This record gives sequence, structure tokens and C-alpha cells, in this order.
Amino acid sequence: MARLGEYDISNPFEATVVETARITPPDSKEDIRHIVLDISGSGFHFVEGQSVGVLVPPPFAAGQKQHFRLYSVASSRQGDDGKDKTIALCVKRCSYIDDFSGEEYKGIASNYLCDLTPGAKVTMTGPYGVAFVVPADDTCNMLLIALGTGIAPFRAFVKHIYETRGGWKGKVRLFYGGKSGLDLAYMNDEKNDFAQYYDEETFKAFQAVSPRPHMDDPIEWEKALEQHAEEVWELLKDPKTYVFIGGLEKIMEPLSKAFVKMAGSEPQWEQKKNELVGANRWFELLY
Ligand SMILES: Cc1cc2nc3c(=O)[nH]c(=O)nc-3n(C[C@H](O)[C@H](O)[C@H](O)COP(=O)(O)OP(=O)(O)OC[C@H]3O[C@@H](n4cnc5c(N)ncnc54)[C@H](O)[C@@H]3O)c2cc1C
Repeated sequence: MARLGEYDISNPFEATVVETARITPPDSKEDIRHIVLDISGSGFHFVEGQSVGVLVPPPFAAGQKQHFRLYSVASSRQGDDGKDKTIALCVKRCSYIDDFSGEEYKGIASNYLCDLTPGAKVTMTGPYGVAFVVPADDTCNMLLIALGTGIAPFRAFVKHIYETRGGWKGKVRLFYGGKSGLDLAYMNDEKNDFAQYYDEETFKAFQAVSPRPHMDDPIEWEKALEQHAEEVWELLKDPKTYVFIGGLEKIMEPLSKAFVKMAGSEPQWEQKKNELVGANRWFELLY
């Protein structure tokens, strides 16, 4: 993935917030919002799997010329209203602890986006990349694995294949991880968009959460995948299976451990993964 400074931001456009809602329940520590922006008249078009840039307005910190961050598109190319006029983003309000001072700071772009109200103008750029591409052949299988806001492109994917394309013949298996079920965006009591696809014969979604009651412990990816190990391994052996992994980089370590266990040994997993990467059937969108 390119460094942030390498992205072309020379053609910004203005979008208008039409809707913004917290999609994690009030008792969740995670503040994740679904933000819908009107892009009509901007000439901006996107496809599922792409990301967009957001340029935060000044003032900037000393020495900073701009604050630019990327966000995955969370809606299909038709937008949530199906009228080609909007784009949806799934944004987590971030903060971080400064290594030196130990103080907590608010993430600039995510807090800016999460604080916006309907009618607000946002300067955007892009679209960028197509990190994840829906296979052209609808008999292909898709293994979708997400952590946190990594779910955004998969919301776009699932909407695209079941609504716009009208169905999918291959197996679509979504594994979604969060500290608790409350933190799973689009798959909790607050907003459960994925529920509308549970009746689709080819779609199944599974949750991977931290062990109760120790919710700060690592997410139990091994357990979640182990429960479906046979099916997942069969899928990985099928030359028509594509694997997509999205979200924070920290997903990779526990996930790799789970796959090693499934494969039987580290070299066997390495071989399988190299085969998938070599055949262009393994994709990661990590940040
Ligand atoms: C290709 C790409 C797609 C992305 N898509 C999304 C998306 O769909 N939704 C989204 O919320 N973010 C997404 N991000 C992350 C986003 O670009 C910003 O890094 C994030 O919003 C923090 O920016 P900030 O200015 O608020 O804070 P910063 O000062 O840049 O960072 C604050 C801290 O938050 C951590 N952090 C960054 N993103 C997350 C996150 N999503 N969850 C938990 N901690 C995080 C950072 O590691 C850092 O420690 C994506 C990043 C990339 C590279």
C-alpha cells in the first residue's frame, strides 16, 4: 500500500453529510458511526473495495500542511439509497496514547468525521485503489474476514452481490471480529444490515469475540475458525475461493495462528498461503 503522502489529492471535491448515526450500542466502548454523504454533482464515482480520502480543514498542528486520511467505502456503487448519489463510510472514533507523555490524544480525522452533523461539507479525494475486487464469476467462493471497521468493504460487497447483481452462487462466508458482539458494526442490535442476507442460501456470517468476561483479552479467532475449520479448509483448497482480510493490522497474528492450526503446521500453511497469493486469490486491506 502506498504511503499517505503518495496519494494524489490534487482533485478534491465537496460532499455533504446527509446522515450520521452511531451504530454501536450506547453500552459499547467503541464509537463507530455510519456516515452517508451526498456526492451528486461532484462527478465522483467509485466501486466496492475502493477507499476515499478525507482532508480535514485547518487549523493544523505546528509543521503540518494538511491532515489527510483514507476510509473504505461502506456502500455499494449505487449508494445506500440506490440512486448513485451517495457514499457511505464506517468510521471509528480513534484516540491514541502518546508514547512519550503517556497522554491520550484524539485522532484528528476520525473525530472530525464523527462530530459532523447533517448539512456539513467535507472535502474528499479519490477514489483510490481497488484493494478488494468482487470476482466476475458468481460461482466463486469468498472468505471475508474483518476486524472492526474492516467490515466496511464487506458491507459494500454483500450489498453489491445480493442486491445489485441479484444473487451469488458461490459460498460467501464472513468472519467478523470484535471485543464483544456490541462492537460489531452492522451486526448488532443497533444496526444489523447483514441480517437481511441471512436468508440467502450462499451467505453465512460468524462472529469472533474476546473470551467472556475478559473482554480485553485477544479476540478468539482460533476458536471462531476452529468451529468451522472443516468448511474453511475445504474452501481454501477450492481453486475458486478468494480470501479477503480487512481491518487493523493486529488481526494478522492471531489469524495466522488459527490458519497454521488448520493447516497442521507452519510450513503447510505458508505453502497454502503462497499458493493463494500467487494465484491472486488472497487480498489484505490492513491499516
Ligand atoms: C486503505 C485504508 C482504509 C481505511 N478505512 C477505514 C475505515 O473504513 N474506517 C475507519 O474508521 N478507519 C479507516 N482507516 C483508518 C483511517 O485512515 C485513520 O487512520 C483513522 O481514522 C485514524 O485517523 P485520525 O486522524 O483520527 O487519527 P490518527 O492520529 O491518524 O491515529 C490515531 C490512532 O488510531 C489508530 N487507528 C487508526 N484507525 C483505526 C481504526 N479503524 N480502529 C482503531 N484504531 C485505529 C491508529 O493506529 C493511531 O494509533 C483506513 C486506513 C487505510 C490506510
